[in-house]
Amino acid sequence: MAYVPVPVVRSAGSLPTALAYDPSNVFARILRREIPAQLLHEDEHCVAFRDVAPQAPLHVLVIPRKALAGLGDAGADDAALLGHLLLVGRAVAERLGHPSARYVVNHGAPSGQSVFHLHVHVLAGRPLAWPPG
Ligand code: AMP
Repeated sequence: MAYVPVPVVRSAGSLPTALAYDPSNVFARILRREIPAQLLHEDEHCVAFRDVAPQAPLHVLVIPRKALAGLGDAGADDAALLGHLLLVGRAVAERLGHPSARYVVNHGAPSGQSVFHLHVHVLAGRPLAWPPG
């Protein structure tokens, strides 16, 4: 079914949804190949690589090439890109023997976001508690 764009409703006084993008952030530097990463996938839209401080036996980050500081910067025209990040994460996890995985996007510092380039965490290989801490 084709994605039908809907107006994005944003509540006043909540987290700033559009974050200033700093092109010197670590993931931008990985995209520019200025610093190394254990790449697992790349295509014209995104790159996937292992997290440098893995929180599970499999901990992969999937990032768009597009300069989006966080989920709040994505609009309806990014819907296909967001879906692509999830599908790439799933494909990488399955390829590495993990049909079950957790897919996480931290949005904003209070949620745990520390790198302000949008990324999807893919975690697998051990039982994962719920709710998360
Ligand atoms: P978040 O806290 O959601 O912003 O996640 C950022 C993630 O990036 C953390 O899990 C870090 O371990 C990871 N990270 C930071 N620097 C690097 C790097 N150079 N290569 C791979 N992962 C990194």
